[in-house]
Amino acid sequence: MKEILQDKSFAELKALVSAEGEKPFRAKQLMEGLTQGKKLSEIPVSAALRARLAERFEEEPVRILETLTARDGTKKFLFALADGNIVEGVLMKYKYGNTQCVSTQVGCRMGCRFCASTLGGLVRNLTAGEILAQILAVNRAEGGSLKKRAVTNVVLMGSGEPFDNYENVVRFLRNLTAEEGLGMSARNISLSTCGLVPAMRAFADEGIPLNLTVSLHAVTDEERARTMPVANAYSIAEILDACAHYFQKTGRRYIFEYSLIAGENSDIAHAAALAELLKGKPCHVNLIRLNAVKERHLRAADERMAQAFLQELLSRGISATLRRSMGSDIGGACGQLRAKYLGAADAGLPKSCEAGFGEEEPQA
Ligand code: SAH
Repeated sequence: MKEILQDKSFAELKALVSAEGEKPFRAKQLMEGLTQGKKLSEIPVSAALRARLAERFEEEPVRILETLTARDGTKKFLFALADGNIVEGVLMKYKYGNTQCVSTQVGCRMGCRFCASTLGGLVRNLTAGEILAQILAVNRAEGGSLKKRAVTNVVLMGSGEPFDNYENVVRFLRNLTAEEGLGMSARNISLSTCGLVPAMRAFADEGIPLNLTVSLHAVTDEERARTMPVANAYSIAEILDACAHYFQKTGRRYIFEYSLIAGENSDIAHAAALAELLKGKPCHVNLIRLNAVKERHLRAADERMAQAFLQELLSRGISATLRRSMGSDIGGACGQLRAKYLGAADAGLPKSCEAGFGEEEPQA
C-alpha cells in the first residue's frame, strides 16, 4: 500500500510541501481539498506536485462502495480500503445533528461473545487517515462543506477496539479536532472501549476531553468474564478507578454501555446491583437490548424487562436511557452488509454496528 495523505497533520503537510520545493500555500490547498473529501487527483495543486504526490500517496484511501438508507433516515455505508479490505459505518440522523459511527479496525480481537465484529478475529488496524477518511467521504456524500458539516458528531463504535489501536486513534482524534481540518469539538465525539484500563489512564492525559464510554454489560467480574474475555485482564473496580481518573483530568462525565441479554444480565437484581455500583458517580448508563447474533446463542431481553431495568436504575437515582435501535428496516446491520459483499450472504453475521446505535442527546 502507498502512504495515506489523510494521516498527516497540517504541520506535516507543510513540511511535505516544503520538502517538495513548493510554496507554503500549497499545503493549505491540500488540507482544504482533503478535508472536503476530494481524491488526490481532484485537488487543485500544481500538476507537477500532484504527479509527485501520486507516486507516493493513495488516490482515494477510503471509497464508499455501497449505501443503504432506512426509513428513519439512518444510512449504512460499506467502505473499501486501498488493500481491498472492507469496513462499515453508519450515519444516524437526530434533531440536533448527524452522528457517524466509524470503525477503527478491520475485525477485532477482543472476543466479546455477543459481538459480530470479532467473529473473524483481527485482520488489521486502520491508520488514522483511514478512520478520518470514512468521515470525509460521508460528509462529502451528504453534501457537507467545510463551513457546514453534514457530519456533526462522531462515535468510535464501529468494528474494532479503539484502545487496541491506540496510536492511530489518538492521531485520528487530533486531526479530526484540528482547526485546519474539520475542527470538530471533542464534546461531539464519543469513544467506546471494552475497558482496556492502561489505555484509559493514558488517554486521560492526552488532552482530548471527549465522551468516554465503557462497555460494562455486567455487574460482577465473574459474570462479565462470561461474555467479555477482557474481564479476565481488568476488573470492574479498576475500570471504575480509571473512569474516576478520566473525570478528574477532563471534567467530563463518563458513560456505560449496558446491552440487555435475556437470562444473563437483565434481571431487576442486576439493575439494583448496577445502581449500587455506580451510586454517586458522574456517569450515565446507556441501555440497549441485545441485537442477537445468530452464532452466539444469546437472546435480547424483551421490551418489558428493558423498561423495568431502566425504571429500577432511575428510581435509584442513576442517570440512564434506553436507546432505540435505528435503521432496523435496512437488513439489520453492519456485518451483514459486509458479509453480503464478500459473497457470504446470509452468513447470519452481525448486527454489530447497530449495537452502538442510538446514542442519546449530546452532552453539554
Ligand atoms: N470495542 C468497543 C466498541 C465496540 S461496539 C467497545 O467494546 O466498546 C459499540 C458497542 O456495541 C459496545 O458497547 C459493544 O459491547 C456493543 N455491542 C456489540 N455487539 C452487540 C450486540 N450484538 N448487541 C448489543 N450490543 C452490542
